[in-house]
Amino acid sequence: ILEISHLVKSFGNHEVLRDIDFSVEKGDVISIIGASGSGKSTMLRCVNLLETPTGGNIYYHGKDITDPKMDVCTYREKVGMVFQSFNLFANLTVLENCMVGPIKVAKKSKEEAKELAMKFLQKVGMDPYINAKPKQLSGGQKQRVAIARALAMEPEVLLFDEPTSALDPQMVGEVLNVMTALAKEGMTMIIVTHEMAFARDISSHVIFMADGVIEEEGTSDDIFKTPQKEKTKEFLSRFR
Ligand code: ATP
Ligand code: MG
Repeated sequence: ILEISHLVKSFGNHEVLRDIDFSVEKGDVISIIGASGSGKSTMLRCVNLLETPTGGNIYYHGKDITDPKMDVCTYREKVGMVFQSFNLFANLTVLENCMVGPIKVAKKSKEEAKELAMKFLQKVGMDPYINAKPKQLSGGQKQRVAIARALAMEPEVLLFDEPTSALDPQMVGEVLNVMTALAKEGMTMIIVTHEMAFARDISSHVIFMADGVIEEEGTSDDIFKTPQKEKTKEFLSRFR
């Protein structure tokens, strides 16, 4: 679905990503792990074009999305993103939050949008709260709504940037459970996370980043059971 090729991103003369290469196939669950500042969010933001790459290419079904002629909105419909800070619309209800994208971006009718929104709110267990405003919800509930909102666009790939790191510990599980269920259904996902046990259990592929490069990558067992690089071993040892 996606091919990231020689991706480079600099802020001024600070090169944050250097020569990143990887590809995403249908059904992949790719976890991106690494120390703070290693470039994980920047990479994910480049994949969603929230940052403009300084160099390299990103191909979506063979089309180069870094081409300025590319329609960013259509692309973002297909490659959705869930943020650490939820980014829900505070003045809209739960249901309205999930209907906005399908109506405004995907040009669905109100009825269709409502059906989609309800389907995915049920899936994340938030259908009892459709009339609530975000401020009435717990962090875990907000994040589940944010996931439903992303799903309502019927994306091909979902990107998650530390979806649980703004949550109180007792709410982390409910969000990880939703993500695990999505993975089991075959959703293609790229997940930046500091939840190592979760990454180990859910991932088909793990990318360990250090200082703007992919230091090591492989299957979950490759990285978590038999890491080869010193930096990988050192990073993982912090979580034992
Ligand atoms: P964390 O685990 O803390 O979220 P990260 O791996 O996601 O870290 P990034 O947020 O991608 O790291 O940041 C990588 C580097 O890029 C950091 O040195 C950061 O200061 C820098 N950086 C990120 N965004 C910008 C920006 N908009 N302008 C300038 N520098 C930035
Ligand atoms: Mg980050």
